[in-house]
Amino acid sequence: MEQPSFLTHHDFEYGILEEVGPGIRRLTARNPSAFTFHGTGTYVIGEGDVAVIDPGPADSTHINMLVDSLQGETITRILVTHCHMDHSPGARLLKKFTGAPTYGFGPHGTHQSVNGDSGEEGVDVSFTPDVKVKEGDTIRAGLAEIECVHTPGHTSNHMCFALPKTGDLFTGDHVMGWSTSVVIPPYGNMSDYINSLEKLLIRSDHCYWPTHGPPIGDPKIFVRSLIAHRLKRIQDIIALLELKPLSISEMVKPLYPQIDPRLIGAASRSIFASLIYLIDRKIIACDSAVSLQSIFRTIEP
Ligand SMILES: [Zn+2]
Repeated sequence: MEQPSFLTHHDFEYGILEEVGPGIRRLTARNPSAFTFHGTGTYVIGEGDVAVIDPGPADSTHINMLVDSLQGETITRILVTHCHMDHSPGARLLKKFTGAPTYGFGPHGTHQSVNGDSGEEGVDVSFTPDVKVKEGDTIRAGLAEIECVHTPGHTSNHMCFALPKTGDLFTGDHVMGWSTSVVIPPYGNMSDYINSLEKLLIRSDHCYWPTHGPPIGDPKIFVRSLIAHRLKRIQDIIALLELKPLSISEMVKPLYPQIDPRLIGAASRSIFASLIYLIDRKIIACDSAVSLQSIFRTIEP
């Protein structure tokens, strides 16, 4: 998965709750992977009475470190952007320590377990927030007012959280600081994802804080590049299929010549998401039921 060229590298250390901005602290969990970059960045908002965004995986070392680092303060809210295994399971552990309620859009789009070859990061199907929040809701933690911004696409229940007074936006996996987001059907949806990126363009946030990767200080340029990247990928798929009908596995190599072999499954499903986008718009068809194994072709105008 290619990285936008203008990313900067942000130095960080495991095991330290760093002050990364006014009223914003971050502790990175030690769960580096092809999906998580260095690991999950757990954010602490405010001082005294604080909110935690994305407690991360069910890693008791990480949660203990977070609680120890906040001695003398009180965690009063636990916010979850979505229910991938690197974001929400730590909420259960943190709630045991603190009794703080959890907030999120809702559970993942399914209660069936998703098998390991789905290409998704792994789904925490058992997470249901204590408080379901929707677009425009405000969560208060101490003096901080946190606005909920619903951004379906990466998953249908993905929520970003904003600090309107300072223009900070916690983007979860909707906008990441090191890679493009994984959008995998059926719980990821390319049309929703692109719409949720466009939604950010009409907001006035100054800085994005992704769960993975460094902060993004020029967010609209970044978001425009993400949209352009997806639309280019969609155009590349059309161009390939104009030559001849193809299966997804035949499209991976020409579309992702440099791909990390660990990400071939995710890339295949990302192509699938773009194909569904094109099928919905009657640009692409397949002659059997739509699946990862289908042969896809363009529809003659
Ligand atoms: Zn995710």
